[in-house]
Parts: sequence; C-alpha cells; structure tokens
Amino acid sequence: MPASSYRDVTGYGANPPSFTWPGGTRVAVSLVINIEEGAERGTAPGMQTAFDYGARAGIWRILRTLDRHGAPATAFCCAVALEANPAVSAALVDRGYEIADHGYRWEGHSGLDIGAERDLIVASRDAIRASTGMRPTSWYSKDGLNVFTRRTLAAEGFDYESNSFNDDLPHWGPADEGTRLPVLPYAGDTNDAGLASQFPTGSAFARHLMDTLDFQLDDPRPGPSVMSVGLHPRVIGRPAYAGALDRFLSHAAERGAWIATRQEIVRWWLDQGGGHEAL
Ligand SMILES: [Zn+2]
Repeated sequence: MPASSYRDVTGYGANPPSFTWPGGTRVAVSLVINIEEGAERGTAPGMQTAFDYGARAGIWRILRTLDRHGAPATAFCCAVALEANPAVSAALVDRGYEIADHGYRWEGHSGLDIGAERDLIVASRDAIRASTGMRPTSWYSKDGLNVFTRRTLAAEGFDYESNSFNDDLPHWGPADEGTRLPVLPYAGDTNDAGLASQFPTGSAFARHLMDTLDFQLDDPRPGPSVMSVGLHPRVIGRPAYAGALDRFLSHAAERGAWIATRQEIVRWWLDQGGGHEAL
C-alpha cells in the first residue's frame, strides 16, 4: 500500500483472525456515547435548546438505562462539552467509562495542516484530562483523517483511533512516514443519528440493532467481529427512543454478546496478536 495514504482497501479479506472475545463469544458490542452538547457552534438558537436537552435530561436517561444493564460505555467527548457540564463529566468517570477525545469544539479536521491539527488534538487532550483526570485513550473527529493524523495521535499518546468506518474488526491503520496506529472502526448505520432519517421509529432502530447483532453472531464467516452502537444524548435520550436502547441491551445479554469499552476490545485484540496482518 502507498505509505502516503491512510487507506487500505484489502484488510483481512477472506481470512479474518480466529480468536474469540472473553467468554468465548464471537461479537463484542461497543456502546459509544457522544458528549457534544455545548460544543457545537453555528447552531441556530432553536436547535441549541434541542442540544441542551441531551445535556440536561437525555444523558441521565442513557446512564440509568446502562446502569440497569450493567453495561460499560466509551464516551466520545468534546472538551468544551465536558467543561460546560462537570456533573456529566464526573458521572462518566464514576462509572469507569472510557474517556475518548472527540475534538476540542467538535470541529472538522480534514484538510488542516499537520501543525494546526496537532495543536487542536493537544488542546482537546489536555482539556479533557483537566476535566476528567484521565488521559483520553483514542480519537474520533467530527469528520475524517488526514494522512498524518495517526502519526500525530501515536506521538501524542493515543492508543488507537475510531475515525474509520472500514471494517468489523480492529486492525492496524497506516499513516505517513511508515507509522501506524491500531484502529477500531466506528459505524454509521448502527447509530441513533439515523433516527432523523433512516429509522421512522425507535422500534425500527431497535430492530436494526438486534438484526445487526444476530447476523454477526450467526454469520457463517468464521471469527470474531465488533458491533459499534453510536448514541447521542439529544437523540436516544428522548423518551420515545430510549426504550430502543433498553430492548437492544436485553437482547445482547440474552445472546451472550461481550459488551465492553473500545479500549478493552483493542487490548484484547492486541493480546491475541493484533490480527495477523503484515504491514
Ligand atoms: Zn459525534
């Protein structure tokens, strides 16, 4: 693959690794809570209050739901959103959730030069550490990667990135200058953002999540996989939608999926040898 690209269109192909997740299950489920409210800019005043709903009410409803199921989560945190709501910041830390970096002010990063992007990554990392007492483990920007982003992340102490949508498994992501970083791909379809377009009701979203998990568990392709579920407090925290998450978590427990933080998933994959890719 060209060293000047962060893309790799071959990956594991027909030969995925053969390990299982803890407990012998084939599917790891990653719940991701996006903490963005208060960090958005350019939002019309009417929409600002819809964002506020997520920070004031929605996040607490999500936390109650996850607490009921004993389910851990990874929080994709915008630094400014944590600063705006210390009680939410403390609630995430108290639960032992993984704290990941979602940018300083939820800005786009694609097209930035290396110095400008590094300054923003360092600023958000340090602000998140000040709010939570924890070094963010990983990175997910509002938009995409640059060819040097993984190199910057590795140099600045990030363990992996989630800023890719390119697989069902962790893998090694290339960067420029021959560097690489573990990648745990995120997912766009198993994401409550679709409740504004793709899913007409909470029930449709719950069905989509359960169908995804069932197919991955029963897939005749051998080997493990990961299912990422993207959650936004201003969306899934609405009463009509919160039940979808509750039903999915009951289903995941019945089917024996391993619900884990993204950091736990990446560590387990590394412990199994980090796949079998040569790079
Ligand atoms: Zn987000």
